[in-house]
Amino acid sequence: MTGLYSMAYLLAGIFFILSLNGLSSQETARRGNVYGMTGMAIAVLATIASPDVTVYTLLVPAMLIGTAIGLWLAMRVEMTGMPQLVAMLHSFVGLAAVLIGWGGVLDPRSMHVGAEAVIHNTEIFLGIFIGAITLTGSWVAWGKLQGTLSGKPLMLPFRHGLNAIALIASIVLMIIFVRDAHSVNAIPILLAMTLIAGLMGIHLVAAIGGADMPVVVSMLNSYSGWAAAATGFMLGNDLLIITGALVGSSGAILSYIMCKAMNRSFISVILGGFGNGGGEIIADEEYGEANTVSHEEAAEWLKDADTIVITPGFGMAVAAAQQAVAEMTERLRKQGKTVRFAIHPVAGRLPGHMNVLLAEANVPYDLVLEMDEINPDLPSTDVVMVIGANDIVNPDAIEKPNSPIAGMPVLEVWKAKKCIVLKRSMASGYAGVQNPLFFKENSAMLFGDAKESVQKVLANL
Ligand code: NDP
Repeated sequence: MTGLYSMAYLLAGIFFILSLNGLSSQETARRGNVYGMTGMAIAVLATIASPDVTVYTLLVPAMLIGTAIGLWLAMRVEMTGMPQLVAMLHSFVGLAAVLIGWGGVLDPRSMHVGAEAVIHNTEIFLGIFIGAITLTGSWVAWGKLQGTLSGKPLMLPFRHGLNAIALIASIVLMIIFVRDAHSVNAIPILLAMTLIAGLMGIHLVAAIGGADMPVVVSMLNSYSGWAAAATGFMLGNDLLIITGALVGSSGAILSYIMCKAMNRSFISVILGGFGNGGGEIIADEEYGEANTVSHEEAAEWLKDADTIVITPGFGMAVAAAQQAVAEMTERLRKQGKTVRFAIHPVAGRLPGHMNVLLAEANVPYDLVLEMDEINPDLPSTDVVMVIGANDIVNPDAIEKPNSPIAGMPVLEVWKAKKCIVLKRSMASGYAGVQNPLFFKENSAMLFGDAKESVQKVLANL
């Protein structure tokens, strides 16, 4: 019988690996999702049927309530609310790790001795430690993404020292706890560590500023994986170990890729708090007046152009303009123009956010280019249309070393012959910095909701 469960877990693990493989390209992403769901169904069924599970009267109502809440949330969530949902889901993994760890300590049946006890206690300690950091860090990330908390980095004095003290204190507590998890002191020790780790999670994420948040989201993803893996060791559950390791390492790889894309140091992200630049925010009037265009004029610019590049950003997601953008692209291509999309790695609020939206609107994949591929072509492009993007096209990232977004590679749209920026106002983007692109001579603002603006331009084409 045990062999059967092991087989089921192994099968689920294989489906998860196939799922990750599928998710690595847009063409196979749908299949990847199906593999993931199949693996999860096998894992849940095998767990429910395992001999360890006996109290179905508690399990069934809990699953029904959880399923109902999950379905309700998933049906209601807007594409623009996905990052917050992901942050909340990471917090659940952290919470589960903390609760399971505490359950392991309080369980009177737990009778490990010798080396086995040391290993088990280490697993418990690490599971709770990583879980608590993930839990509170994800809460802060949720608040920053939702706009409930300020996007500005929290700069406490001596902040790296505080993190170091918290880490050293946790290591000392771990050494004491691991030696004897059954002593009377074990509970206060564990309580103290849970509190320290919780505060560390808050501090690490609060110290990270607006434009650097993408890395935090993927880091928390990775932490949630390691928390699950630690829980897997604690429970002796192979599938949790495999799944946790997959999530932990893929999240770490994604964080590394995001760091490279944003020109940030991976180590400084792990340590929390970078990108604090203390940026100099320049008053709007110093930039002068921005040019504006009407929908008719914008359409004329496009008609006169041979090469067009569309740069979508978070505003396209807010306006749900992707379908209208896809229609405009088709119309322009039928008129013999070369139309391509320029995708910044952190455009929107999730890695791959823009790719998902464009795929949803059936924009052919071969028109969608990465930043590095398209940047060299921008100087020879006739018109760039920036649709609801801001930080990812901000020249200050390259030109102003003391800007909060300094060093972040951006789409150099201002180098094109003409640039039309579709947004509703002169408001700043997620990083909260003004964008000199709007005031350049070859740029013009087309104010209004992105979807309505694109539809009106389309009507004039
Ligand atoms: P930004 O948030 O910088 O700018 C989006 C712009 O869209 C705003 O300036 C806004 O201006 C405009 N906008 C909003 N709603 C509409 C609408 N309905 N119609 C037209 N325009 C609209 O987005 P970017 O994509 O340029 O950059 C992403 C930012 O988010 C970066 O700073 C990135 O670091 C950060 N981030 C990214 C994550 C990721 O994983 N991708 C995760 C977390 C943060 P206005 O109000 O005037 O319309």
